[in-house]
Amino acid sequence: MPSYDNNLIARIQQANDIVDVVAEHIALKRKGREMLGLCPFHDDHKPSMNVSPIKQIFKCFACGAGGDVFKFIQMRENLSFPQAIERLAERAGIELPRPTGRKTSDERRATSDETDPNQLARLNSWAAKYFQKNLAEKQKGKAARQYLADRKISPESITKFRLGLALNEPDHLCKTAAKANIPEKLLLAAGLIVPGRTDKFVNRLMFTITDPTGRAIGFGGRTLADEGAKYINSPATALFDKSNALYALDLARHRIVETGTAVVTEGYTDVIMAHQFGLTNVVASLGTSFTTGHARTLRRYARKAVLLFDADTAGIEAANRALQTALAGRIDVSIAVIPGEKDPCDFLLAQGKDALDTLIKNAADVFSFKWNRLTEQLKAGDTLAARKQAVDDYLEALAAGIAAGNLPPIDTGLIVNRVAVVIALDPHDVKNELKKRIARARRTASYDTIHAENRKLTKLDLGHGLAANTQREILEVILNAPTFLKKHDNQITPDTFDVPAYRQIALILTETIKQNSQPTLAEILAHAESTDLANLIVELATVGEQKANFKARLNGALGAVKLAQKQKDKAEIKEITDQKQFIKRVTENTEKQNPHNVGMV
Ligand SMILES: [Zn+2]
Repeated sequence: MPSYDNNLIARIQQANDIVDVVAEHIALKRKGREMLGLCPFHDDHKPSMNVSPIKQIFKCFACGAGGDVFKFIQMRENLSFPQAIERLAERAGIELPRPTGRKTSDERRATSDETDPNQLARLNSWAAKYFQKNLAEKQKGKAARQYLADRKISPESITKFRLGLALNEPDHLCKTAAKANIPEKLLLAAGLIVPGRTDKFVNRLMFTITDPTGRAIGFGGRTLADEGAKYINSPATALFDKSNALYALDLARHRIVETGTAVVTEGYTDVIMAHQFGLTNVVASLGTSFTTGHARTLRRYARKAVLLFDADTAGIEAANRALQTALAGRIDVSIAVIPGEKDPCDFLLAQGKDALDTLIKNAADVFSFKWNRLTEQLKAGDTLAARKQAVDDYLEALAAGIAAGNLPPIDTGLIVNRVAVVIALDPHDVKNELKKRIARARRTASYDTIHAENRKLTKLDLGHGLAANTQREILEVILNAPTFLKKHDNQITPDTFDVPAYRQIALILTETIKQNSQPTLAEILAHAESTDLANLIVELATVGEQKANFKARLNGALGAVKLAQKQKDKAEIKEITDQKQFIKRVTENTEKQNPHNVGMV
């Protein structure tokens, strides 16, 4: 891993405003001098993530995550410190010096690490351009362009959504990549080729899948022939997780935050057409059904999600499953069903924007949708089994909603009574049955949380007792008023700290202050490579700021250090005296026992 010059790191930090970077991942609302949003590092129920535009730091008051813009990216995208530097340099368009001894970016690529998410993103960006170029080719791209024109997808959309073409040749990408010196193992890791130097995508219309920041993280390919799977996606990589990714979230994000509503469809072309018609808060799940991961992602931008489905049986079934998931994901979900035999794309083309808009505005909330489904099924179901299944489905949804806190208790009582009437059972029995299911739903939910989302903050060993507290106190002050370090540099050195984490912070402070005698907290954080240490620095700085009273507290702490030192010195003197006396005693004894051997000890 290359290491970068401190001035360059400072420049990259300044070029990436933390508010802009964090806002790519969660919706932020202004509150006083700070910005507030749902923390992406733990299962946050109410906004705990504070971002300070002035200090250029973030801090979660619930899970303790904190740091500067580099730490946010490190934690959010699972990057090392140098990888975060590269990532944010690229984001700000700052050219990084090439590692010594290498000449071209292709050579850099050739020696690269295929598990580095930045490398995969660069390769995907290369591939997206390659697919786009194929589509633009006069002859080879003609049929695909015609297909898009038939689907009424505009040239602007083709550019905006980075649509492309995988040629009808088994290894064209493979050969082109070889010419660009891109190593095979990197292509394999990105899922662009399969073993045996064959392209993964052949004769397909290519959709570039992006993350919320607009980086290409994977691809979807629609076949242009009548054979093979209609759609295939890139496999999961260090960069691409299908169960969390939402198509076009980067393009829809702003409008989703503005309107407080995200519209979720199932198809790439549905999204493209919606945006083309000016409905720009529309995204799509990627050929999978709507997952809790999707619900969690969207929850960070919007309160409400409207799921848009086709009216056919498969569509209704999918809607039903999606609702179940969304309920557990604590987002306000409702469902809009496209009438007739159409998908959203065709519906837009036939009926226009206002018709779809109305459909979305009138979307049924989860419980009405489920209720209608229950009554319809009870009417239609002539067998006992079918009726049982319908009731089962409904109670299951109800339990998931209540367990996730999506339904107030008053509503629950009403619903229980309604169900009891419809299925001709005692309300008491319905309530008991529901209770059992709620308990089970809660168990699964907490299991999900622990295993899928909750970030475990590593607890650093911070020692205990007076000495550790004193060390902490000194750092709480210095992090807020770094000039004190210089003033007391005869008393405070890294050696003052014997708790390893505090000593590390003292070393970082000394290093930072060498360059700038009055560094900001963000500048100090830019010298901390570890996210755990950054969390601790922000914690100490925040607590220190609240306690204020810097001068008095520092003097108190330094007094304690002096006292401790004196006691330590005393103990050492005593030890030395004891040693001397011991030797003396030994000598005396030896003299007594063997008077001829004086001086041998
Ligand atoms: Zn948190």
